[in-house]
Amino acid sequence: MSINAQFNSWHDKAHSLKPEGRLFIDGDFSAAVSGAVFQSINPATGAVLAEVARGGSDDVDRAVRSAAKAFRAGVWSRMIPRQRMAVLYRFADLIEAQSEEFALLDTLDMGKPISEMLTVDVPLALACLRFTTECIDKLQGSVGATANDVLSYVIHQPLGVVGCIVPWNYPLLMTVWKIAPALAAGNSVVLKPAEQSPLSALLLARLFIEAGGPSGVFNVVNGYGPDAGRALALHPDVAKIAFTGSVEVGKLMMTYSGQSNLKKVTTECGGKSPHVIMADAPDLAMAADWAAMGIFGNQGEVCCAGSRILVQREILPEFIELLRSRAETSYRPGDPLLAATGMGPLVDVKQQERVLHYINIGRSAGATCITGGGIPAGLEGGAFVAPTIFANVSNDMAIAREEIFGPVASIIAFDSFEEAIATANDTNFGLAAGIWTADLGKAHRFARDVEAGMVYINSYMNGDMQFPFGGWKESGNGRDKCMDALNSYTQSKSVWATIGC
Ligand code: NAD
Repeated sequence: MSINAQFNSWHDKAHSLKPEGRLFIDGDFSAAVSGAVFQSINPATGAVLAEVARGGSDDVDRAVRSAAKAFRAGVWSRMIPRQRMAVLYRFADLIEAQSEEFALLDTLDMGKPISEMLTVDVPLALACLRFTTECIDKLQGSVGATANDVLSYVIHQPLGVVGCIVPWNYPLLMTVWKIAPALAAGNSVVLKPAEQSPLSALLLARLFIEAGGPSGVFNVVNGYGPDAGRALALHPDVAKIAFTGSVEVGKLMMTYSGQSNLKKVTTECGGKSPHVIMADAPDLAMAADWAAMGIFGNQGEVCCAGSRILVQREILPEFIELLRSRAETSYRPGDPLLAATGMGPLVDVKQQERVLHYINIGRSAGATCITGGGIPAGLEGGAFVAPTIFANVSNDMAIAREEIFGPVASIIAFDSFEEAIATANDTNFGLAAGIWTADLGKAHRFARDVEAGMVYINSYMNGDMQFPFGGWKESGNGRDKCMDALNSYTQSKSVWATIGC
């Protein structure tokens, strides 16, 4: 099919889409108790996509009561593992069958290119759900070495009601990273999507019921963070909050836990990740490809974006040129419904203003803007920002210290390997780090010494379901994907049985 035919077909599909906007509580859709709604806006055009029920504390309370009732009844929490697996495998199959609808919903809601939805977000969400489902009957307890007349064992049980609070940058994927392990472990879930991207979660909830999931086990309450999100995090009958979002709100989650019932809190927060390019990089063109993807992919709205690119001084001019050419060709902003588009709009006008503000700060601080630096010509009707590269950045500038969460690369020159590690670690964040070098010793010394939860050698933002995803320092304390994630949605129970001799 030609690109123009694809363009028309995605636009036709978008026109015929009728997104559901009500809350999903106790197995059914309903309006908010208050009757309030908010609008979901397409950031590529500014058009209203849907009216969405704006949940508040009453709705959160309804959802938590339904979730707690289902949990206590054991309809899911005590379901035989193989049966729970069958439901979740069916759930994955139904999501796969609706891949195009999920792709359209997230693209229209938050602006990412539809091609990325179809090749990244949807397949990775399915991989997570299927991996986690496979693990359900692999969870094991242990038996202690005790005296002969005692049997001491430890079992892992679900926590109860889990509140999942997620961001807008990968609406489907970040949601599945939370709900898949929470549900797999036998918990009931109340999900609070980001207000900027409320729609795909509602389709997910409907498909869970279609797959045979019991009512009340998976609830979705859309609404604003300080209303619905806060009410969920403060709720006394919620056993855990699984949070992905900004550092600022991640800290609030800990406070809410202390102000309520000391619920468990796992946080996946922001980053300012260093991507180090040594002069002995095995393939500088490939390093530039990955560096470009690491900061311009998904409009730079990526928690582990390699937003600080540390380049050894002797290859600086060559590398800047390679990165510039990629920014200007592969990541040219455009209509996200066009299959060939490499970069869509930012999530909304507020985020656009934030990114433009940082670009101004970079210029005022004396950094050199190599390319981009504003709204691309002809795209003034949407929340677009051109991929932007700053050179002559020093690590104390705001554009090197603060998370911009947009397509802005800060290039910092260094001379020695030791200087690169010191600069890499000179940050409050610790999510990801990357290094390009042909020297194995240096690569592994970097991996050992860099303060980050994830390290990539000669690639960036890579990994599979075995690879735990999470950070150090202010980037949070949680781990998504992998068995670690599943375990974090259980609690251990130690049993000491006196059995006689
Ligand atoms: P955000 O912190 O503003 O919002 C995240 C969620 O928290 C949303 O659902 C929001 O409604 C809710 N929220 C906001 N204020 C709240 C409050 N007072 N009480 C309760 N809930 C509240 O973040 P965002 O702008 O949606 O997402 C961008 C951030 O997410 C970036 O910092 C990014 O790095 C981070 N992120 C991290 C990861 C990771 O795995 N580490 C992944 C994706 C995004």
